[in-house]
Amino acid sequence: MHDREFGNGNGYSNGNGYTNGNSYTNGNGYTNGNGYSNGNGNVNGNGEANGAKVIKMKPMDSELLREQGHIMVDFIADYYKNLQDSPQDFPVLSQVQPGYLRDMLPDSAPDQPESLKELLDDVSKKIMPGITHWQSPSYFAYYASSTSVAGFLGEMLNAGLSVVGFTWLTSPAATELEIIVLDWLAKLLQLPDHFLSTGNGGGVIQGTGCEAVLVVVLAARDRILKKVGKTLLPQLVAYASDQTHSSFRKACLIGGIHEENIRLLKTDSSTNYGMPPESLEEAISHDLAEGFIPFFICATVGTTSSAAVDPLVPLGKIAKKYGIWMHVDAAYAGNACICPEYRKFIDGIENADSFNMNAHKWLFANQTCSPLWVKDRYSLIDALKTNPEYLEFKVSKKDAVVNYKDWQISLSRRFRSLKLWMVLRLYGSENLRNFIRDHVNLAKHFEDYVAQDPHFEVVTTRYFSLVCFRLVPVDGDEEKCNERNRELLAAVNSTGKIFISHTALSDKFILRFAVGAPLTEEKHVTEAWQIIQKHSSKFTCNGHY
Ligand code: PLP
Repeated sequence: MHDREFGNGNGYSNGNGYTNGNSYTNGNGYTNGNGYSNGNGNVNGNGEANGAKVIKMKPMDSELLREQGHIMVDFIADYYKNLQDSPQDFPVLSQVQPGYLRDMLPDSAPDQPESLKELLDDVSKKIMPGITHWQSPSYFAYYASSTSVAGFLGEMLNAGLSVVGFTWLTSPAATELEIIVLDWLAKLLQLPDHFLSTGNGGGVIQGTGCEAVLVVVLAARDRILKKVGKTLLPQLVAYASDQTHSSFRKACLIGGIHEENIRLLKTDSSTNYGMPPESLEEAISHDLAEGFIPFFICATVGTTSSAAVDPLVPLGKIAKKYGIWMHVDAAYAGNACICPEYRKFIDGIENADSFNMNAHKWLFANQTCSPLWVKDRYSLIDALKTNPEYLEFKVSKKDAVVNYKDWQISLSRRFRSLKLWMVLRLYGSENLRNFIRDHVNLAKHFEDYVAQDPHFEVVTTRYFSLVCFRLVPVDGDEEKCNERNRELLAAVNSTGKIFISHTALSDKFILRFAVGAPLTEEKHVTEAWQIIQKHSSKFTCNGHY
């Protein structure tokens, strides 16, 4: 980097920017004359801002993108490498205290540009300590947020094209690829034909599972209100189990459903925390007798707490019998259903009105990508369509085009299908199935460790890649047992070597071990178990336990 390139040493920034000879890569840095360096730009028309000479920015210069893009890819590739090679430098659960960043960063944004090098240095020194490393091979908390090279490249392409495909016209490929890819995925899941775009239904990629349940609650609400009249909104009742994701309640409240009309049916270990169909039917009968209008059932395949499965076959029959919209939330476990041996968990899906899974959880599609299929797309469109004049357009067969703005809350939308398409094409479904199977086997491996240690117990029947376990109570003292499991959780997570999470089932404090990060191998699972065992010895030795 030479002074002349940014105008005689007082040019581009404050001397810390691209002008100080320590540019990020090879000493030549951003010197190709296409970047910020042509010396003819200005901010206020006279080449000066606050008395200092400034070079006009070029927000999307292709050569600068090439150069800095390579730097960024290297940075990210090194991150993934270091997560594996130097895990001691990356505590899986961030160990910083609240507010840690405020002291490390200036109070206001810079007036003058800074260099990418400076910025990436700050990422390494200041941001990384505050990162919980979801992509670490020793990440076993919540459910994973799985990444892949294909998913990453898809995100990159999406960011590069940066189209906003709210109507077909605004990028026909964005709409058409989404339709095609969701048909592909529906076929991999063996969803009934009515969920395909060739029927009355179809798929749409929502940002998240929370958005998916919200839009279907709105569709179901409007469908029933059309029939019974808008004034009966206060009578509408929605059902789910007490294990259902909190987004269900939020969606109902946003949809105007009265809080007291949200029924969370009790579950327990007798059904492995799946919703008992008898309780559902009883609740519906009772509500009907009281003059309420049952309109929505949210069934879950793979609950957030324990990966419990609601029995779709009997629940679907009840939904059909009473004409109630049934939504299936399979945010996590739906991904496993591309494997024939797990497909049985969504048997009964033919009686559902909608089905959702998060491909960013366990299909290596990077955040965020939440495919939702509906049986009747017009229910969704009726609830969500808007037609401002400025979005009107004519195409030869207007009815034949999909305008995804009418299938979601927001107008703007990302071209998410690109990455799903790339994941499916660059890996192939058989690879994806095998990777999911590997994760399930790793979970089984962990479960075997737990089962062999008399101080621990596996708490629920495991179906997928989540193991729910705990230290066993001594002399039936459940309260003390909860306390010790809580302590054990805090101890293992404070090592920074692994991250596991917890839940509560039937008032018991339960530890969760979920496999799903793309770099996890058997050695990481074994090491995790050793760490857990080591930290449990406090409770299991000296006659304490
Ligand atoms: N449903 C289930 C079963 C989940 O486990 C989750 C998140 O973990 C969600 C819904 C919410 O998904 P999202 O975070 O994409 O909104």
